[in-house]
Amino acid sequence: MPRDLEGARAIVTGASSGIGAAIAQAFGAAGASVVVNYHSDEEGAAKVVEDIRSAGGQGEAVKADVSKAEDCAQLFATAETKFGGVDILVSNAGIQKDAAFTDLSLGDWQQVIDLNLTGQFLCAQEAVRRFRAQGHDAKRSPALGKIILMSSVHQAIPWAGHVNYASAKGGVKALMESLAQEVAGEKIRVNAIAPGAIKTDINRAEWEDEEGRKKMLELIPYGRIGEPDDIARAAVWLASDASDYVVGTTLFVDGGMALYPSFREGG
Ligand code: NAP
Repeated sequence: MPRDLEGARAIVTGASSGIGAAIAQAFGAAGASVVVNYHSDEEGAAKVVEDIRSAGGQGEAVKADVSKAEDCAQLFATAETKFGGVDILVSNAGIQKDAAFTDLSLGDWQQVIDLNLTGQFLCAQEAVRRFRAQGHDAKRSPALGKIILMSSVHQAIPWAGHVNYASAKGGVKALMESLAQEVAGEKIRVNAIAPGAIKTDINRAEWEDEEGRKKMLELIPYGRIGEPDDIARAAVWLASDASDYVVGTTLFVDGGMALYPSFREGG
C-alpha cells in the first residue's frame, strides 16, 4: 500500500467490521493515525487496532453510538488528545432493518434514519466545526479537511422491502452534495462512496447461500461480489491529496451494478 495518507489523522465510524474495518486498516497501512469507532463489537475493533499497530501505525478504538451528537463529539475529542486533531472523517456506520412496506414499524424506520442519515449529519457537522477550529496548514494538505460519507447504490436504485435504507441513502446523497457546495470554498472536500454488493455481515445471509449468491451475481455485470478492500482502496484515494480536485462526487464502486444490468439483453 503506498503511503498516500502519511501523517494524516482519521476517524472511521463503524470500523469494527466489514467496510469500515477494511478502510481503517488501509488508512493505517497508508500512514494515517486512525480512531476506530465501534458500537457493540469491542473485540472486532480491538483486532483492527492491533492490525494497524502491528503494521507500525497508530490506532485507538472508541465506543460510540454515532446517532447521538455527544458520542460523535467523543470520537473527535479522542482524535484531538491522541493524535493532535483530525484531517479525515469517514462516516461509514450503517444498518439494515428490512420489511415489506406495510410491515415496517415506525421504530425500525426511525432507527435506520437515525443512524444511516442523522448519524452522518452529526459526525459531518462536528468534523466541519473541528476543521475550522484547527485552521489550515497548507504544509499538511491543500485541503482544510476531508469528509467521506458512505452511501450505497441505493441512493439511486429503488429497493422494495428496504424503504428505510433507500430513503436514508437518498438523503445521504442530498446531504453530501449540499454540504460539499456549502464548505468547498473553505477547502473542505466532501464526497461519498456508493458501494454495490460487498461481502460483509450486513448481507451475509445472501452471499453465504448459493441461490442468494447467484441472484446477486445476476445484478453485477463485472461478475464478482465485491470485497471490503475494493471500497477501502477507493477510500484511500478519495481521502488522499491525489483526489484534491474531487468535490461533491459520489464514487460508485459496484462492479457496474448501477448500469441497469437487466437491460443487457436488449431490455
Ligand atoms: P457491517 O459489517 O454490518 O458493519 C456495520 C458497522 O456499523 C459495524 O462496525 C457496527 O458496529 C457499526 N454500527 C452499527 N450501529 C452503530 C451505531 N449506532 N453507532 C456506531 N456504529 C454502529 O456492514 P457493512 O456492509 O460494512 O456496512 C458499512 C456501511 O456500508 C453502511 O453504511 C452500509 O449501508 C454501507 N454499504 C454496504 C454495502 C454492502 O453490500 N455491504 C453496500 C452499500 C453500502 P458494531 O458491530 O460494533 O455494533
